[in-house]
Amino acid sequence: MPVTDRYRPDPRHADLDDRFYDRVEAARFPQHTLRFRNDRAAARVGLDGLSDDEWITHFGRFEPLPDNLPQPLALRYHGHQFRSYNPDLGDGRGFLFAQVREDGAPDGRLLDLGTKGSGTTPWSRSGDGRLTLKGGVRELLATELLQALGVATSRTFSLIETGEKLWRGDEPSPTRSSVLVRLQHSHIRIGSFQRQAFLRDADALAALMDHVIGLHMPDLAAIDDRLDRTAAFVQRVAENCARTVAQWMAAGFVHGVLNTDNILVTGESFDYGPWRFLPTHDPEFTAAYFDHGGLYAYGRQPDTLMWNLTRLAETLLPLSNRDRLIPALETFPPAFSLALGEAVTRRLGVQPTTPEDDDALVLALFEAMGRTQIPFERPFFDWYGGPASEFRALERSPHAALYAGEPFARFRDLIAGRRPRDGVDLDHPYFADPEPCTLLIDEVEALWAPIASADDWSPLHAKVAAIRRMGEALGNG
Ligand code: AMP
Ligand code: MG
Repeated sequence: MPVTDRYRPDPRHADLDDRFYDRVEAARFPQHTLRFRNDRAAARVGLDGLSDDEWITHFGRFEPLPDNLPQPLALRYHGHQFRSYNPDLGDGRGFLFAQVREDGAPDGRLLDLGTKGSGTTPWSRSGDGRLTLKGGVRELLATELLQALGVATSRTFSLIETGEKLWRGDEPSPTRSSVLVRLQHSHIRIGSFQRQAFLRDADALAALMDHVIGLHMPDLAAIDDRLDRTAAFVQRVAENCARTVAQWMAAGFVHGVLNTDNILVTGESFDYGPWRFLPTHDPEFTAAYFDHGGLYAYGRQPDTLMWNLTRLAETLLPLSNRDRLIPALETFPPAFSLALGEAVTRRLGVQPTTPEDDDALVLALFEAMGRTQIPFERPFFDWYGGPASEFRALERSPHAALYAGEPFARFRDLIAGRRPRDGVDLDHPYFADPEPCTLLIDEVEALWAPIASADDWSPLHAKVAAIRRMGEALGNG
């Protein structure tokens, strides 16, 4: 048995019926070259004992894991894409492969192993069901850095090169192919609910909601009244999304494609296509080249989540009513503010105080970052731990003059009174580095170039190691 005794299969999606998925088969690929296996993530679900050959058998050829789903399931969903409703969505190049409990505990979170690039399904339309190798590398980089920055994100579990030639408008083609496996907290999206509402299947809507509540929000299961339970569900999804979008804002991350089919009910962030990290604080910064109006720009992400959550609430009207759902939705803005204070103080390595004082600190910092256009990551690196880093920021940093100036005056005052968070360790060698670890687009391209030209993976692997070292320094290992 290649799995360890910490492997705990629990394929609960099969509890739902075939209104929610289609049984599919993986593509047969001409080649399987293991490019990345995430043993840190695998250890969380007892799959770290697999040999590379066994790994490829399961995550490249998709032979079922023991006592797990006997066949992959392509999930059915709809969604609003750039605000237009699209009923022609669904897992067109991926499927749910397996479900496992975290930490080998029966009450550990239920995590899904899902794919990207594993072949066509009934939902592929004219697509080829494939993922480019560069797309896989980009998703790996995004997930590693987000995790290291403390963002609730899917993990890139596996990346296998599959030996096909793909044609894409946004990459020099033909381009190399891959299949990626994610480990993530649910695959059920706002769009999963939208599909059932579109089909006017209130029974399926209720079944899906109670499925999610049972798996991910068991405390809500005790609310007998369905009208109230539905409102509590919307409120919980709103809180989950508020936390994640606050973490993106604190990380300087622009997801790029915040369609309702890309938003999970657990709030965990996933599906990384044209993402970018901000060079400097800029609310207008837009990641996707096809987002001409800047709909999903950095500064619009919180409003976008609110818009998406409103679609979820509308969708659930058959199970509740406006009087209950509107107050549930209205919990999003205050939940976001609170979460932003938490996320920014965490990134600064200082203790949170009152929500008002934390808000003031966030405002002072972001205002100064906007006015000075200092590199986004720099203040978090230079001021980590608060006053304990004053010497690093005001004497050592190449940006010391900016910190001493007027735009940062209010921030300097406010951070002076803060205490470091428990566990902050400024002796970690990371904090003596000349530069913080970042991942702007030029570096992403520079990491890809040697893979494309010489099949040289060493810069990529070195970068993943550097990102993990930062994550360790920040307590997000
Ligand atoms: P995304 O923008 O990755 O969230 O995908 C939006 C929709 O397009 C989903 O239904 C995907 O399954 C589908 N899709 C994207 N790329 C492909 C592809 N190469 N082949 C088939 N379906 C795809
Ligand atoms: Mg998607």
